[in-house]
Amino acid sequence: MSLTLDAILSSQSSLLQEAAEALPHQFTQCTYAKGHIRQSVYLCLTCAVPRGICSACSIACHTDHEQLELFPKRNFRCDCPTDALAHPCALHKTHEAANDANAYGQNFRGVFCRCAREYDPRKERETMIQCLACEDWFHESCLNLRERPPSRGPTPEPAQEAAEADADDTTSDVSDNLPPPLLRASDYDSFVCGACVRSIDVVKRYAGTPGALMVIQDSPGDNWKIIGTDEPESMALGFEAKQEPNSDSAEVGAKRARSASPSSADLSQAKKPRLSSAPSICLAPPPSLVAQSILSNYKPSETAPGLEGTREEKQILGFGDVFLTEGFRGRWCLCEPCTSQLKKYRYLLDEEETYEPPQDPDSGLSLEELGLRALQRLPRDRAIDGIRAFNEMRDDLMHHLRPFAQEGKEVTEADIRAFFDARMQAAKSGQS
Ligand SMILES: [Zn+2]
Ligand SMILES: [Zn+2]
Ligand SMILES: [Zn+2]
Ligand SMILES: [Zn+2]
Ligand SMILES: [Zn+2]
Ligand SMILES: [Zn+2]
Repeated sequence: MSLTLDAILSSQSSLLQEAAEALPHQFTQCTYAKGHIRQSVYLCLTCAVPRGICSACSIACHTDHEQLELFPKRNFRCDCPTDALAHPCALHKTHEAANDANAYGQNFRGVFCRCAREYDPRKERETMIQCLACEDWFHESCLNLRERPPSRGPTPEPAQEAAEADADDTTSDVSDNLPPPLLRASDYDSFVCGACVRSIDVVKRYAGTPGALMVIQDSPGDNWKIIGTDEPESMALGFEAKQEPNSDSAEVGAKRARSASPSSADLSQAKKPRLSSAPSICLAPPPSLVAQSILSNYKPSETAPGLEGTREEKQILGFGDVFLTEGFRGRWCLCEPCTSQLKKYRYLLDEEETYEPPQDPDSGLSLEELGLRALQRLPRDRAIDGIRAFNEMRDDLMHHLRPFAQEGKEVTEADIRAFFDARMQAAKSGQS
């Protein structure tokens, strides 16, 4: 498919709206009408109100605004077409009242982690990890997984090595040129921050037991170490696991656990509960005393840095963060008290779906698709700054395409591909 770009190029800044109109169904629909869903949310720094907009609105409505991607937030409805934002929505034309059911944590003030730092993509070197429960983002160093590295100076963005960066959407990629953290992304499946662990009894109960890793320090000045690394038993199959205590590899355990994991619907109406899915006695592992002492005695303030003062009184130290290993959703005890807890936090039982804008079915690669693909090839810690990168790339692309427009030539997909290939090539050679 080729595009005649004369018209589009008449206004550079409106390229994306125009392209979106020419190529329907791709970032042309605000998600407002879908209600409260889990979706990627963007904070518009230019509009400067603590509200969030959907990915389509981030491109179509706030095109020239500076934005920060907050990544998926559950139960979130787009604020773009509402009273809360003065900037008009270009996609959802009906004027809507301000959303009252969205939760606006500190991320909506551009602030992240228990250290409450602002995110600066040009300086940040650390991987950030998203809490499964509150969906805030945490620095590895703030989880005691590494020393806080000095911030980096502004460097050109390398665009390679990104193909492998999309595997895990709850970490923002490998920290650049830093020694490995105490726990790598491959060592666990999900992370729950200490504040959330304290508020969710069932997670608190499991903290520090096999498969619910914690980072602790025996006394001030000691090295941080991991507890809970013993091979997790499948708790859903607790009786069986006890009969054959050493039979399961982690992989087998995870698979079994998965098949034994009921959906929430099953749980809510367990008519004839099987012994293994609704035991009358609690099959949660014996609590980890170390973990429980950290969780009950030591309550770090959420935002205060410099916690050294309070640390010293405690023998065993840690924030109470929990890293749940592969297959954790199938390992919870399903006795009645545990189940009623778990049902309140469905993401502990079932992996959530995150809305993605629909693919454009009848075009070739649209400009936006090409742009977003290029974006996806950027490492995660750079992709968090994706909008800015995307805007820069769009400007370069316009520059590349302007001669076609001036000569009235059609632009083909190959021309656009050539642009991206050249760009990737430049990025690679620039890096070596
Ligand atoms: Zn929207
Ligand atoms: Zn804006
Ligand atoms: Zn909008
Ligand atoms: Zn932090
Ligand atoms: Zn949390
Ligand atoms: Zn139980």
